Amino acid sequence: MIDHENLRASNAPFMRDFQEAFADVLESGWYILGNSVTSFEIEFGSYIGSRHCIGVANGLDALTMSLAAFKFEPGSEVIVPSNTYIATVLSVVNAGLVPVLVEPDIHTYTIDPRKIGEAITPRTRALIVVHLYGKSCEMDPILAIAKKHVLAVIEDCAQSHGASYKGKKTGTFGDFGAFSFYPTKNLGALGDAGAVTTDDDGRALAIRRLRNYGSDVKHYNEVVGFNSRLDEVQAAFLSVKLKRLDEITAHKRKLAALYLDGIKGDFVLPAVHPDHFDVYHIFSIRHPRRDDLKKYLFDNGVAADIHYPVPPHRQNALKNILKGEFPIADEIHSTTLSLPISFATTEEEVLKVIEVLNTF
Ligand SMILES: *Cc1c(COP(=O)(O)O)cnc(C)c1O
Repeated sequence: MIDHENLRASNAPFMRDFQEAFADVLESGWYILGNSVTSFEIEFGSYIGSRHCIGVANGLDALTMSLAAFKFEPGSEVIVPSNTYIATVLSVVNAGLVPVLVEPDIHTYTIDPRKIGEAITPRTRALIVVHLYGKSCEMDPILAIAKKHVLAVIEDCAQSHGASYKGKKTGTFGDFGAFSFYPTKNLGALGDAGAVTTDDDGRALAIRRLRNYGSDVKHYNEVVGFNSRLDEVQAAFLSVKLKRLDEITAHKRKLAALYLDGIKGDFVLPAVHPDHFDVYHIFSIRHPRRDDLKKYLFDNGVAADIHYPVPPHRQNALKNILKGEFPIADEIHSTTLSLPISFATTEEEVLKVIEVLNTF
């Protein structure tokens, strides 16, 4: 079986370095907010091109605390894409704010800048863009709208480590970049982990406080905070992998190029544009008979996955919160299929997947 993802195999090239990194943390005797977190924050900030990087517990908290840092009035509206993982929407709800969904562009799958304007009301305070599947959103028109309406911009970079738009990396466009290092992400830890990037000194301080019980100085609490610190052991593992993130990205881009070149027939392939350096967190194709296609692949030794089968507006958890119809998000969720494109996936395996697809 060709796996969609096999975390043991994807992490195998790092095993020895992980063991050394773990031994260092163990020996240090300092397990919360120590040298590993500090080092990783400096390394990742410099990789992204952001002045500050603050390690946090996970991607959802990175988003929630980014919103909390603004202290918007309860009930303020935040625009989020209808086509995303539920975490993006939950961050808004958890921050006591109101999510307003905007449909994606059917070609890029990211938020449609032409539809943002009509969702803005006098209560809109912020916009969360999601660089879905490893492709940056159209940041020029988005930043222009945000500027015109004085909206905060938060980038959900959980799927876009190293992706760029017009030569600038995601996580450097908005007021905050919110990253997840969940194990399957392009830069994945061996447990939960996340980070927030920002160029603003004051905002960086606000996140540092929020992640650590609202405290700057031990025993003194300035705001009502969270316990959402990046774990010292995970930070050490992440530093190991960050050194080879460009290699991971290059591998995924090589596999994507094979798919783009080899897949024939009535499949909708990911959009490619010279302004975008895509990192292919997921390689999504679309087909009207998606479920049959998934089964056909499985019967022929290929495990494909679906990101995601149920959109946020159709989740029971959000049915009283999200109102309206989102046919483009529905269309994507019912036709998308994710092909194997992990660090452990080989070129031979991709050629095999292409061969099976082309006989469907
Ligand atoms: C994974 C993911 C998150 C949440 O990250 P966690 O670390 O699991 O909390 C948020 N947004 C998107 C788009 C994601 O893919």
